[in-house]
Amino acid sequence: MKILVLNAGSSSLKCHLFDWVGESQKPVWQAHADWSRKQVAARLTISTAEGKLQESEIPNPDVSTILRQLTAALPMVPDVAAHRIVHGGSLFHKAVLLTPEVQQQAMGFSPFAPSHNPMQLEIVDEMERMLGPKVPQYGVFDTAFHTTLAPEAYVYAGPSHWLERGIRRYGFHGISHQYVSHHAAKLLGGELAASRIVTAHLGNGCSLAAVVGGVSVATTMGFTPLDGLVMGTRSGSVDPGILIHLVRQYGYSADMLEAELNQESGLKGITGISGDMRELLAAMQGGSEPARLAFDIYTSSIARFVAGLIPAMGGLDALVFTAGIGENSPEVRAAVADKLAFLGVAMDEPVNQNKPMDQVISQAGTKPQVLVVRSEEDWEIARQCFAAQSES
Ligand code: ADP
Repeated sequence: MKILVLNAGSSSLKCHLFDWVGESQKPVWQAHADWSRKQVAARLTISTAEGKLQESEIPNPDVSTILRQLTAALPMVPDVAAHRIVHGGSLFHKAVLLTPEVQQQAMGFSPFAPSHNPMQLEIVDEMERMLGPKVPQYGVFDTAFHTTLAPEAYVYAGPSHWLERGIRRYGFHGISHQYVSHHAAKLLGGELAASRIVTAHLGNGCSLAAVVGGVSVATTMGFTPLDGLVMGTRSGSVDPGILIHLVRQYGYSADMLEAELNQESGLKGITGISGDMRELLAAMQGGSEPARLAFDIYTSSIARFVAGLIPAMGGLDALVFTAGIGENSPEVRAAVADKLAFLGVAMDEPVNQNKPMDQVISQAGTKPQVLVVRSEEDWEIARQCFAAQSES
């Protein structure tokens, strides 16, 4: 089955075409469009399984033009398309056929994910026009993996009308947490059913999931992706009293709070330098005190939340690092491990330093084990789409 995976962020789109037979699939074709400098042009990069690369610029791009160029370059017509959709509330537990009714339900979550859901659903519409109605389209939701949370883990301690209004913890990065926790259990060679794993997805956005027997039981992101860990430019959890104070004393509007909490906080806010970990590490090596402080706050936040998730699992068998920072920064992994040494975490430092991937990086015989696993979100989206299509 030829599955075209479309994974759209707020200003980029990753596409992977899988010729899906078994589970050990690599994409046969991939494309990446980036329109973060939209006024100028979108950059389109296409590569084939044989490694052939084609780059082009699309002047004055809109979603429709970008998708037209992408589909024109496809080496074969897909049998199905599978879309990552950020917010599906508690409605969708697995990949679902995107009927008009489902699309409308997903659109209903747009106020909760304004920079993702509308754009992702616009892409679904455009793809239907381009591929025709005979090619079914599936949605794989970032919230789906966390629909297993018990009320104890998802109800906020506000008045009961919050819950009635849909204000509850949903959790995000679910596709990544699902893939990474299941892959880690495989790498550990044990029973998935018996595993208690914390997955640390550390990218521009950062979140943890507590996964028991392959099922999410707790997670750090909440009603929105602002909650939990300190992130690149997002604050993570802060005292809600600060927001009240900013409104009362400094006349902040909802838009000002949103902009500051999402774009001007986290590593960028603390340092005034950047929310990008590579730049932060470079500044730290150059002796920057604010960079050192941001690094310490960031790694303490991870360690504190990891420890805070353990009661939900009754113990911890493995801690798994993934995404841009988790996969690539031995400094962050070492600092977090150091702060969790009291739990028995003991890193094998030479292994940690040697670009580990899909492997254990803690000392032999120690527990909890620590791993690095590459997040393969697009593969996971294709897998879930294949499973749903096979069931139908
Ligand atoms: P997104 O959440 O947008 O998908 P990524 O998962 O690509 O982002 O993660 C981006 C983060 O990963 C950035 O902070 C970037 O600096 C960091 N990163 C990427 N490579 C490295 C590296 N070699 N060392 C440290 N941090 C890195």
